[in-house]
Amino acid sequence: MELNSSIREIKGIGEKSGKLFNKLGVYTVGELLCFYPRGYDIFGQIEPVSSLQEGRTVIIEAALKYLPKVTASGNLKVTRAVFKDTGGSITAIWFNMPFMAKMLHMGTHYILRGRTACRNGVLELHQAKILTRQEYSNLTGTLQPVYHLTAGLTGNAIAKAVKTALCETDLNGDFLPACIRKENNLMPWKKAVHAIHFPKDKEECINARRRLVFDEFFLFALAARQMKKTKGQIPSKYIMNNSVLAQKLLNSLPYKLTKAQDAAWQDIQKDMQSGKVMNRLVQGDVGSGKTIVALLSLLMAAENGFQGAIMAPTEVLALQHYETFTALLEPLGIKTGLLTGSLTAAQKKKVYAQILAQETDIIIGTHALVQEKAEYKNLGLVVTDEQHRFGVKQREALYSKGKEPHMLVMSATPIPRTLAIILYGELDISVIDTMPEGRKPVKNCVVNTSYRPQAYKFMQKEIQAGHQVYVICPMADESENMEAENVISYSQMLREKIPPGTRIEFLHGKMPPAQKNSIMESFAAHKTDILVSTTVIEVGINVPEATVMMVENAERFGLAQLHQLRGRVGRGTAQSYCIFMAGNSSSEVMDRLTVIGNSNDGFYIAEQDLKMRGPGDFFGIRQSGELGFKLADIYQDADILKAANKAVSNFSSGDIIKMCMENGRLKEQIMSYTGTVFL
Ligand code: ADP
Ligand code: MG
Repeated sequence: MELNSSIREIKGIGEKSGKLFNKLGVYTVGELLCFYPRGYDIFGQIEPVSSLQEGRTVIIEAALKYLPKVTASGNLKVTRAVFKDTGGSITAIWFNMPFMAKMLHMGTHYILRGRTACRNGVLELHQAKILTRQEYSNLTGTLQPVYHLTAGLTGNAIAKAVKTALCETDLNGDFLPACIRKENNLMPWKKAVHAIHFPKDKEECINARRRLVFDEFFLFALAARQMKKTKGQIPSKYIMNNSVLAQKLLNSLPYKLTKAQDAAWQDIQKDMQSGKVMNRLVQGDVGSGKTIVALLSLLMAAENGFQGAIMAPTEVLALQHYETFTALLEPLGIKTGLLTGSLTAAQKKKVYAQILAQETDIIIGTHALVQEKAEYKNLGLVVTDEQHRFGVKQREALYSKGKEPHMLVMSATPIPRTLAIILYGELDISVIDTMPEGRKPVKNCVVNTSYRPQAYKFMQKEIQAGHQVYVICPMADESENMEAENVISYSQMLREKIPPGTRIEFLHGKMPPAQKNSIMESFAAHKTDILVSTTVIEVGINVPEATVMMVENAERFGLAQLHQLRGRVGRGTAQSYCIFMAGNSSSEVMDRLTVIGNSNDGFYIAEQDLKMRGPGDFFGIRQSGELGFKLADIYQDADILKAANKAVSNFSSGDIIKMCMENGRLKEQIMSYTGTVFL
């Protein structure tokens, strides 16, 4: 098998499971090998029941104390069985696994592995697996990969496919030149790919990850340098004059730009008038007002006779931008268009035609903007919103839709200056470091689930005052996980707890886009009071009347993500509130949530997050996914980023690319990472 062979060539993957892999974005053997675990299950030692703590995966050895009971709760079948060892007893609970009751016998000793949870002050063991003594001794001390799943595909099936692929593919080629590997003490690629899936121990896992993170940064640094070389200081075909309409729009806004917004806007105007191609990053924390800066820039381009496009990472956000832009720009005679993946073929065709005929001045959309058929007539400015959500690849794809258009990227990720220079080496940077006037800092509280009744009362009070509420759950529906809240069951429960008449809707990523859009629109139009949602609303969404954000199972999110979520409130002049609700109150969880509870400063939070994780602590399941990296985390791996950047800058571009190509596979890897920047 080759890296680019279809996964269908792997023994055991038929049409049906092949489709499930595709759903996870895995089409080829290479993609399967790069479908890294989201974490590892570490098999520890047997613990005495009396010393168990909540919120942990534990192993106990105990005898059945009473015969198991199966009860029904709604459409859920709950099996309960009490186990005891010499020091204590605990109730084990299985959801929708009634057959467990038949498997358990009085007097027998079992080794059970499950997760502890606290309910009504009593510790329980959830969804425990029963291990034979042999299994236990084989697995103790090992790290088992845990993968992102999709309904119908188990972790075991993925692990098995990965094992087969590892055996039957030639992985000897290594694009990273030996001298760079040696200098940075990196293992060969083949070994790293093996070990990232099936590490012998923690140390090997950390080293494998280091190698693969280095690769990501290395290719990134290579691409960034290449872009800088090709772009830096090229003369622009789109030289602009002052925008009269932008001034008119500014005069009509209900607010004045903050000093920082104005400075960014001045930078952009200068760039677009300079005769050189603009490459600018606008960095500003959530809520600092980046959208209006993007809008003014696009307006200036349109007034000068050029088309502009703005790309957002989600449909929900693209639609919201479209509405904001249309409301402000249409009165000025500027024509806007929306292009997203959920349009019908006929609708798309119409939009494509309008774009090509330049009947549309400003096109707002998702990555559908860069699909093959979208052809622009006179694209002078491209904007990427929430840049940290995209890889270099998408940003470049949009850029390459035009003939060296001006480029503006907006990002809310707080990045220390030294890293920003590497990550955004080819860009000039404007920082929006102040918030609009009149904003009150969001008031936070970190609580456990016993606070729910009070939280619901508080939400009702806010709703009566004419405000709106977000509730975030980690899961979409029951199928995913029994241990965390899901939006569907949660909104049902909420309807029972909150007086009728309160308009509650739910939203999650698995819904068809049109439905998502209409739910979001109804919330934005204040036809909904409470929106129960997964993190699909995390990026960019702006509903200033929403004043309460409640995050269920807050322990399941990274601090940076919680900060983004909190950024959905506090966007108007009213006081806003954020309730971080922890599903378990272990001290580790509480310490971490306290950081975000005590600070609204994205920069500080990112730093603390890093400190608390400590370098090399990869066994959790937090992966930022920022800037399109798979494993690399710009905070945690800042040192590797610097090393990779140094490795790249030690050689001339030509030399390094030649060296890498000699070892094969660089082309594929770089292409898959950066699109068409190279070669
Ligand atoms: P972000 O930087 O997160 O993209 P937005 O651009 O969505 O933030 O702005 C958040 C909110 O602040 C919007 O409702 C916007 O209208 C408002 N806003 C932007 N600039 C100002 C300003 N200078 N004064 C008051 N409100 C502003
Ligand atoms: Mg925004």
